[in-house]
Amino acid sequence: MPLVCVDAGHGGNDPGAVGPGGELEKDVNLAVARYVRVYVSRCGHQVVLTRDSDIELKLAQRVAAANQSGAHVFISVHSNLAVKSGDGSYVQDPGPRGVETFYHHSSPKGKALAERLADTMAAASGFPVRRVAPSGFYVLKYTLMPAVLVETGFLSNETDRSLLREPAFLDKLALGIAWGIADYLKT
Ligand SMILES: [Zn+2]
Repeated sequence: MPLVCVDAGHGGNDPGAVGPGGELEKDVNLAVARYVRVYVSRCGHQVVLTRDSDIELKLAQRVAAANQSGAHVFISVHSNLAVKSGDGSYVQDPGPRGVETFYHHSSPKGKALAERLADTMAAASGFPVRRVAPSGFYVLKYTLMPAVLVETGFLSNETDRSLLREPAFLDKLALGIAWGIADYLKT
């Protein structure tokens, strides 16, 4: 039975991105990861989460958990924040919005999964796809299975942020992620 490892980014003392309303990326990521677990399980696949509470994990711990679990697919869930340079400092850039997915350049399967996930996340959420791109992110580089890092939307964008605050919307996004995983595992 295929095993899917879902990694909620950040946690504990590391909140990740912080939205203008005090929204914490780590909370969005965990909520989405938990909904993904529900949907992926319903598809008949096994799921393991790297964290199921508000704890801090090092990147190496996330990778070790994935590799030791023998997972067939690894998905790291994040939410985005855009910045631009203002008067000598950085300020949030409200412009960029939408979903992004990243894969490691050495993994054609990771790329295929990233492309599929961008489509299914967009279809389920109504968010635009902003980019699908290769990346050297640690969790993509050192995991042994096809791996994708998904960015659910931008906490720095008003449209995205207002939706990312809604549990029902995070549930929809998670359905999109699970749909993409299920499609990928069928091929
Ligand atoms: Zn993040």
